[in-house]
Amino acid sequence: MSRHHVTRLPDYHTHTQRCGHAEGSPAAYVQAAHEAGLLAVGIADHIPLLPVPDPSLSMAESDLSEYVREVEDLKAMHPGFVLLGVEADYRPETVDRVAAMLEAHPFDYVIGSVHFLGDWAFDDPRRLEEYDHRDIDQAWIDYLELVGDAAESGLFTILGHLDLLKKFGYRPTRSLDRELERLVERVKRSGTVVEINTAGLRKPVGEMYPSFHIVRALHDARVNVTFGSDAHKPAEVGADFIQAENLIRSAGFTHFAVLEPSERGRRASVSLLPLADLG
Ligand code: ZN
Ligand code: ZN
Ligand code: FE
Ligand code: FE
Repeated sequence: MSRHHVTRLPDYHTHTQRCGHAEGSPAAYVQAAHEAGLLAVGIADHIPLLPVPDPSLSMAESDLSEYVREVEDLKAMHPGFVLLGVEADYRPETVDRVAAMLEAHPFDYVIGSVHFLGDWAFDDPRRLEEYDHRDIDQAWIDYLELVGDAAESGLFTILGHLDLLKKFGYRPTRSLDRELERLVERVKRSGTVVEINTAGLRKPVGEMYPSFHIVRALHDARVNVTFGSDAHKPAEVGADFIQAENLIRSAGFTHFAVLEPSERGRRASVSLLPLADLG
């Protein structure tokens, strides 16, 4: 494949040093996105963690306004190229407080992510031993149900890393096709966009989120997809996007979703752009 066939893609999932486990300022991510030739970059750092704050997992609640201001300045300097996003945890016990934080700030979009089953931060390497004490199939069933609830909550523009529970290689031991089919239906009805998240390639599981068979099911249900690197340092912006583009193309997609910023205080609208013609 020659270089000019590469599509210009947006990266809507980047973190910054504010979250305590990433490096780089928002400005450094914008610079990296320019250098990578991306279509747009969204800064989507972790929303303050509730109910138990952890400075190694997210910014503090008192930092949120400053984060918003910093990204809004970059938006003003790079109109149409930079978007103000945030990655918000979906947890039933904190959903009202998260909704209030989301309403208090003019986010262009919100990535909804499930990182917790109850109190278990299952994607945190410090909590890895918990996998040995769990029925992994039940964990998957509970996880997929929560992701569906997140979609239906109406809080989110994009669903993050749809099958994150596979991060450390713990797969279901039996087919969960029925549960996955139900999830895809719920996502479709909700109108949320699903990201192709390349960070899984850099994790023990060694593949993107979500897996190919889910991407194909999303295509068949006509769910829209977009792209996120989940970069935790500027050098990861746009990482492996050619592979991500190939993944959706091979699942049958001809278009991908982009976010068009609207008026201040309103969420971005979603539109579709064609993938480059490989002909
Ligand atoms: Zn993170
Ligand atoms: Zn710019
Ligand atoms: Fe996440
Ligand atoms: Fe993330």
